Amino acid sequence: MVEIRRDSAVRLVSDLMQRMASAILVLNTSGIITFANPVAADLLGASSDALVSQPGKRFLPEALLKLSGHLQQRETAVHDINGRAIPVSLSMTPIKNGSDNWKLIAMTNLAEVQRANDALYHTQRLAGVGTLTASVAHELTNPLSIITATCSNLIHEVDSDNLDAEMLLHYIHMIEQSAWRSARIVEVLRHYTHDAGLQTAVTSLNMIIEDALTLMKPQFVKEYNVSIHTDLAQDLPSIVCDHNRITQVLINLLGNARDAMQPDAGAVHVKTWAMPPNQAQAGGQLAFSVRDEGPGIPPALLEQIFEPFFTTKPSGTGTGLGLFIARELVEQHNGRIWAENHPDGGALFTVVLPQKQ
Ligand code: ADP
Repeated sequence: MVEIRRDSAVRLVSDLMQRMASAILVLNTSGIITFANPVAADLLGASSDALVSQPGKRFLPEALLKLSGHLQQRETAVHDINGRAIPVSLSMTPIKNGSDNWKLIAMTNLAEVQRANDALYHTQRLAGVGTLTASVAHELTNPLSIITATCSNLIHEVDSDNLDAEMLLHYIHMIEQSAWRSARIVEVLRHYTHDAGLQTAVTSLNMIIEDALTLMKPQFVKEYNVSIHTDLAQDLPSIVCDHNRITQVLINLLGNARDAMQPDAGAVHVKTWAMPPNQAQAGGQLAFSVRDEGPGIPPALLEQIFEPFFTTKPSGTGTGLGLFIARELVEQHNGRIWAENHPDGGALFTVVLPQKQ
């Protein structure tokens, strides 16, 4: 009776291993493969029958086979039957078979994981485009109705010969502002939907800051009476990222810092630094922050400000897309962005990016 139960349990386990989505190998005490499921056969390029009786070290790193304990999810490379290296995530569990110590090895092909992640990202992106398109249609209604209403007013005033130069300028100004707003909304959507993908390269975070400041500084100083102070860490290691996109993030943050201090003068503080090493992020992380001397952000809004079309700026000046796009760009780099209020006043935005993608 016990024998029968044991037999059916063994059959059940074997059946389960056959159907697992991971590649499974079982090695005996001498390191010989005694079981290979179809996914393992596919991964290693030989049939399950051909794999059984082969030495495990032909396919698996020898150093790993010497370990006797449990091994959790290690990224490594195995070799297929033709000696081609395949990157995998591998875990190993010791199993007792009588007095023998066997090993159960589970592997996932990392290229497949990457393909699945890309597909997921694409799906999320499409979902984002859907949400954004619906909101854009809604947001465009307002400036477009201002334009049509102003034009019909203009026609009416011209017809009744009632238009002086000041009034004309006022109408033109209203049309210009609304047209600008519409164009900006459409441009952002175009940028978002026709995204060519990340163009990553080795670059310098401090250089990205300098680039953004070159674009923004003259206008800050001359038109807005806002000064910019930098505290850029020297000897920062290089970073792999999309230079233009991170410049765009900075431009969006600087524009907001400038606006937050109007109509008064003030200073914006831009800082870069290397994050202390962190076990979870093996490759290291770099960070930058933008702080202003404006009124800060009401605590209840600290998360909401990243939502599309959330703006507190006067009609015609804000689109509510700057921070939404900034977060999108940072997350494309597997980074993080958040807002808080500085203890000395003003808003503080911090961006942390992995050094390598
Ligand atoms: P927009 O600038 O077009 O309003 P954003 O997405 O860039 O769109 O910003 C959304 C909102 O977040 C702003 O309208 C403002 O209320 C708030 N905000 C952003 N940056 C700051 C800042 N530095 N200080 C205070 N509030 C800010």
